[in-house]
Amino acid sequence: MPPIAFVSRSDAASEAVWIGALSAALPQETIISFSAMSDDEKQRAEIAIVANPDPEHIAALPNLKWVHSLWAGVERLVAELGPKAPPLVRLTDPELSRVMSEAVLAWSYYLQRDMPAYRKQQQHRVWQELEYRQPSEMTVSLIGLGELGAASARKLKDAGFNVIGWSRSMKSLAGIETVSGDEGLNTMLQRSDIVVCLVPLTEQTRGLLNASRFGIMKKGASLINFARGLIVVTDDLLDALDSGQLSHAVLDVFEVEPLPDSSAFWDHEKVTVLPHISGPTGRESSARIVAGNIRNWRQTGTLPPIVDIQRGY
Ligand code: NAP
Repeated sequence: MPPIAFVSRSDAASEAVWIGALSAALPQETIISFSAMSDDEKQRAEIAIVANPDPEHIAALPNLKWVHSLWAGVERLVAELGPKAPPLVRLTDPELSRVMSEAVLAWSYYLQRDMPAYRKQQQHRVWQELEYRQPSEMTVSLIGLGELGAASARKLKDAGFNVIGWSRSMKSLAGIETVSGDEGLNTMLQRSDIVVCLVPLTEQTRGLLNASRFGIMKKGASLINFARGLIVVTDDLLDALDSGQLSHAVLDVFEVEPLPDSSAFWDHEKVTVLPHISGPTGRESSARIVAGNIRNWRQTGTLPPIVDIQRGY
C-alpha cells in the first residue's frame, strides 16, 4: 500500500509522537513524516495527514487523493492550498465537541458568577456580596451552531441558561431558539447577556463583531471568543469595553498568536486572556477518528464530508 504522508510545521519530536499515535490506530498503514520521505514515496502518497502544513510540501505530493487535517479550523489551509487543492477533510471529533462545550460552560459560569468583579474586589481588599443571577435569568447566544456550537448550546441549556444560536442555514435544536441571517444575528445580540463566538473564519465572518454589532448588544453584556481572532475587530472591542458597553471579554484566540507583548489585552482589567486552549485536539481520540476515516476510504472509496472551499468551511 502507498505510504501516508504526515505533513506539519512541528518539530521532529512532536511529529514522532503524532506519527506514533496514528500508526497505533492504523497498524496496517505506513505513515511517514514528509521530511523523511523519498522522492518515490512522495510520488506514491495518496493521503496526507496534516497539522498546519507548509503548502509547498502539499504541492510536492502530486498524487494526493485527499488531505485529512488534524485540526477543526481549516481557514489557513483553505487560503494557502487554494481551489486546486485535493479534497480536504477537517477533524470532527465528539471528544473535541465535549471539551469545547465544557470550556464554554466553564467561562459562562465565570461570567454568570461575576468572577471578574470578585477578582477586582480581592485586588482592592473589598468584602462585598454581589447580587446572584440564576442561569435562567440569563441568555447566552452562540454565533455558529456547528459541531462545537451545537454541543455548547446543549450544555448551556442543560445548565439552565436561555440559549439562542445563529447559523447560516436555519437549524432545529430541542429547547434552543435558533436564528439565521443578519436580522437574526442582530436580534440575538440585542437579547444576550453572554455572546459566544464559535463560527469559522471566512470572508463573511472576518470582522463580524465590530463597533456596530457591539453597539446593539445589551449594555454590560460579555463576549467569549473561542473561534478565531480576526472575527473580532480588536480596536472596536477595546472601545466597547472602555466605554462600558461591554463588561468583559474572555479571549482564547487573537489576530496574532502568541499574543504579542505589546497587546492592550494583556493588562486590560475587563479582559481574560487564554492561550488558545479552549478546544485542544486530543491525540488519542483524533487519531482514532482519522484512522476510521482512512480505513473506510480504503475499503469503500467513500470520503467523509469535505470542506467546501468556496464557502470557506
Ligand atoms: P462547523 O461545524 O463547520 O460549524 C460552523 C457553524 O458556523 C455552522 O453552524 C455554520 O452554519 C456557521 N456559519 C459559518 N459561516 C456562517 C455565516 N457566514 N453566517 C452564519 N453562520 C455561519 O465548525 P465547528 O467544528 O463547530 O468549529 C467552529 C470553529 O471553532 C472552527 O472553525 C475553529 O475556528 C474554532 N475552533 C477553535 C478551537 C480553539 O481551541 N479555540 C478549537 C477548535 C475549533 P451552517 O450550520 O448553516 O453551516
